[in-house]
Amino acid sequence: MKISRIAVPSLLVAAATAVFAAGVGYDNTPQIPGQKWKVHDKARPNPPVITPGATFSHLAPAPSDAKVLFDGKNLDAWKSGNKEAKWKVENGYFEVVKGGGDIETKEKFADFQLHIEWASPTPPKGDSQGRGNSGVFLHGLYEVQVLDVYKNKTYADGQAGGLYGQWAPLVEASVKPGEWNSYDIIFEGPRFDDAGTVTRKASVTVIHNGAVLHHRQEFTGPSGHQNVPKYVKYDSTGPIRLQDHGDPVRFRNIWIRPIGTYDRPE
Ligand code: MG
Repeated sequence: MKISRIAVPSLLVAAATAVFAAGVGYDNTPQIPGQKWKVHDKARPNPPVITPGATFSHLAPAPSDAKVLFDGKNLDAWKSGNKEAKWKVENGYFEVVKGGGDIETKEKFADFQLHIEWASPTPPKGDSQGRGNSGVFLHGLYEVQVLDVYKNKTYADGQAGGLYGQWAPLVEASVKPGEWNSYDIIFEGPRFDDAGTVTRKASVTVIHNGAVLHHRQEFTGPSGHQNVPKYVKYDSTGPIRLQDHGDPVRFRNIWIRPIGTYDRPE
């Protein structure tokens, strides 16, 4: 489906009050349950753009109890389907190889804290969802969007840090293409009863370059394009999956800490 586009002179501005004209997106998609908006609604306002502070922890060492998923050297912790992950590793980061397919961690995780850094391709190419698109899929199902939004208008629930097709970020805190962003994500997976009904939806807190984008926000269901998939019972664990959307997005410094329980025996 063709996506209409409105030229926006500058998306990343210092003012925190930027509001953009509607127009990019859809008006023939399903309603998002519990919200006034349709999926990728072109009338949904884009959130304010902020300039992040300098306190976010790019390339900071992982906590001692974290599992390091990428330390700049190799993709040993990752796979692509049942095959070796083929994305390009160089200079301490890895990069999406177009057609290489999504990659996901070999290990599955339940509830966790995840740190991941990403950078959009430079020079930028494409527009709307075609510019610097990738994504961090939690449990392989729930996408925190990765997108280059610098001078690039797209629908609100599809911009960087959006819970794709469901929630726009509270603010847009991206830096320019080629510069490094950090996501710190705290995720709690869904719970199901014996009949397969979801008793607690998956929820997430996302901090982007030091700014909260979502706080304990529930996923309506797994992420979908132009639809709202329903929960289907699974064991409430899954991999971290990164999306090959055809754009050479880079990632580095990835680590994860399972969220434990209080009062564990010594
Ligand atoms: Mg994506």
